[in-house]
Amino acid sequence: MFNFPTPYPDELIYSTVARAGIRLALSSPKQLLDEVFQNRKVSATVDLPCHLEKILHWLPQRLYDLNHLIDKHTLFPIYACFIPEERRQNCLHFMQGASHGALHLAVGLNASKVHIPEYLRYCPRCFEEQLQSYGEWYWSRLWQIPGVSCCPQHGKLLNSSVQYRPVHKHEFKAACLENCPTHAQEPASLDEILIAQKAIELCSLTNTPSANLAQWTLFYKDLALKHHMVKGKHHIVHELIYQKIMQRWPMSFLIQHGLSDLCTENSWLHHMFRKHRRSFSYLEHLIVIEAFYAGKSWTFQEILKAVKAYSHTPTSFCDNTVGEKLQPTVIHTQRHLWLTALAQTSIVNARRQNTALYAWLYRNDKKWLVETNAQKQMPFIPSGKKVNWKQRDWEGVKTLLRLHQQLLENLDSPRRTRTWWIKQLSSPSTIEKNLASLPLITKFLNTYQEDTSCYQIRRLSRELLLTKRNNESISLWVLLRKTGLTTDRMTQETQTFLNHVIQHDQLIKV
Ligand SMILES: [Zn+2]
Repeated sequence: MFNFPTPYPDELIYSTVARAGIRLALSSPKQLLDEVFQNRKVSATVDLPCHLEKILHWLPQRLYDLNHLIDKHTLFPIYACFIPEERRQNCLHFMQGASHGALHLAVGLNASKVHIPEYLRYCPRCFEEQLQSYGEWYWSRLWQIPGVSCCPQHGKLLNSSVQYRPVHKHEFKAACLENCPTHAQEPASLDEILIAQKAIELCSLTNTPSANLAQWTLFYKDLALKHHMVKGKHHIVHELIYQKIMQRWPMSFLIQHGLSDLCTENSWLHHMFRKHRRSFSYLEHLIVIEAFYAGKSWTFQEILKAVKAYSHTPTSFCDNTVGEKLQPTVIHTQRHLWLTALAQTSIVNARRQNTALYAWLYRNDKKWLVETNAQKQMPFIPSGKKVNWKQRDWEGVKTLLRLHQQLLENLDSPRRTRTWWIKQLSSPSTIEKNLASLPLITKFLNTYQEDTSCYQIRRLSRELLLTKRNNESISLWVLLRKTGLTTDRMTQETQTFLNHVIQHDQLIKV
């Protein structure tokens, strides 16, 4: 029926649909949904879109199938290798049709600590190349991968004004001059380039069966063993692992990605060296592997091969205690129903509303059920137990104080507001809602939250120190541009600080 655009290399489906809207000159998002999906409830999902069978319908059959679309034009490959095979199959199924949020739950995004970008990002110089090759701009998928902050060829990515998880969920926005203003691009650090390259490698791996959680557990246990970090037979010495990570990665980096909690009992790092009950993100794997391989080159492909070589316990199809042989399709359907129910409500409610389904899964597919529910639970809250606020308060404030100590000389992090500090803890939303029960954390926040002046002065200090270190001087306007400040946005205190530097130091050329 209509002239649906063909996806460009590495283009997100989100982007192709947005371009379809422009090609058809459709001004309303609803009209676009009607044309492409015949369904107004489809969300404009950047990372893991569903309803792909509708997209396939518009593309030449001999060139495209479901796996190709998923492997080449969505962020699924970033997650696929790290979730058990059964779950991976479920996800493929969700992406073909509807998922009602179950897909994001199934890949582990709900439990993941890695920050999701706030806006779609872009590389202006790649835009130039796209324009030359294809005559238009499009959203490349590498730019939208959580944890990736640069284009390995050209430098740091810039934020567009298009939200990654927008309030208006049904609008597909194409990249254009209006939402992608041109700014100068800063050079990327070596670590940023490394992460981008590893993400590119993951995206290039084709659809193959993935390892299960038991195999990942063995892999990390062995890694600790090889590095003499296991006492006796089973006791992992977490302190040594912590040191290993800190030797390789700066704290500011871990904070930037939401992974700074390394020491508490419930930190992601602890969980990684215990029995795996949920899957971890590529970035968590990367941080650990890179630290342990210390300078030696490695690829995800080799790691995955090594993980799959561990003998694995039988899959959950065999846990059917009744003893009868069940059809895989029956199990698939039941699992699908449970994931869909979980995506919409809590475990307790889902169980209450689907008693029969829960009982069936408990009887026939218990291992999968327990794993799936663990994935849904926020990692911090032990299931079925009352929260011990006093302990939580202690642990939280200890983490914050330690972090504060580590950050004393660090001038890089974003503004350390109350919310920022809270976000460095496990389950930030629970903490935020229950501050009344957490007096120590509250006291910390009141003392150490950074006000506007402090933040502005910190940014200025950072640039001035860099200038001084290089024995250079800097003109006032460049300094203001680099720190994102303008004279009218500056507080009185910042202005006084700046005047003082201008008068007493030769650093700033006025
Ligand atoms: Zn680029």
